[in-house]
Amino acid sequence: FADRDGVIWLDGELIPWREAQTHVLTHTLHYGMGVFEGVRAYETDNGAQIFRLQEHTDRLFRSAHILGMKIPFTKEQINEAQKQVVRENNLSSAYLRPMCFYGSEGMGLRADNLKVHCMVAAWEWPSYMAPEAKEQGIKIRTSSYTRHHVNITMCKAKANGNYMNSMLALREALDSGCEEALLLDNEGYVAEGSGENIFILKDDGILYTPELTSCLEGITRDTIFRFASELGIEVREKRITRDEVYVAEEAFFTGTAAEVLPIREHDGRIIGSGKRGPVTAKMQSMYFDQVSGKREQWPEWLSPVK
Ligand code: PMP
Repeated sequence: FADRDGVIWLDGELIPWREAQTHVLTHTLHYGMGVFEGVRAYETDNGAQIFRLQEHTDRLFRSAHILGMKIPFTKEQINEAQKQVVRENNLSSAYLRPMCFYGSEGMGLRADNLKVHCMVAAWEWPSYMAPEAKEQGIKIRTSSYTRHHVNITMCKAKANGNYMNSMLALREALDSGCEEALLLDNEGYVAEGSGENIFILKDDGILYTPELTSCLEGITRDTIFRFASELGIEVREKRITRDEVYVAEEAFFTGTAAEVLPIREHDGRIIGSGKRGPVTAKMQSMYFDQVSGKREQWPEWLSPVK
């Protein structure tokens, strides 16, 4: 991934992709204390536009604040850097990765002379799952790994170190023939996927999603809330058990990378009809229309890169 053409924004400058290097004593590499975002830009009639850029940048700054990191750039500069990498790499659609990390100015947990460095890269990343997954849905399993506890890692921060737990869970799911993991919180209630929030539709016609205790405050999750309110579908945040997912009419994951992804099977049980359900299909089509600039609602959610 490091050996390719293009440019990366690092600490205020665009530099050639191959030269965006860091030292092996980079503090964040050792202890995982860093924050990042996953953002997407989509092709629209007005060129590439970044979806909910401001909300992602706001979350990046909140994550840094939670970890006590001071980002040496303004939100406007980080927004502009994101537009720049899409533009300068001539991308019509892209996945963007802003990250803030501690440098190699010191070592050890007590290091107090660390500089916060910021980078933004962008590349083409068409589909997180196989394209047919969007239509057919995916197979998931309950993870044997527990999701973060609110007082162990900081769940509201999209922090580098938090993703060790995600990778363990995802690897286990993939190795057992599933496409994604469903992690439960430390009390045994449904939390989220390795990089997605979850929604279930029950036979009362209401959409349910876990409360924001041990799962990330997803921006796609929020987008689904807005769509549901447009459609007159009630959404309730509540504690959900794994067997409620087993007997749901529909279930889907949401995330910037995964977008809106139907779940067809959980722990070997078929969910609903075993295919993408009508509410999931509606949310998915609204989402793709929204991100590609085909809806009139929420124009402020798209930021042109030019
Ligand atoms: N949960 C986790 C753990 C994630 O990494 C992500 C992806 N950022 C999400 C949920 C979904 O968040 P969003 O919709 O903002 O991408």
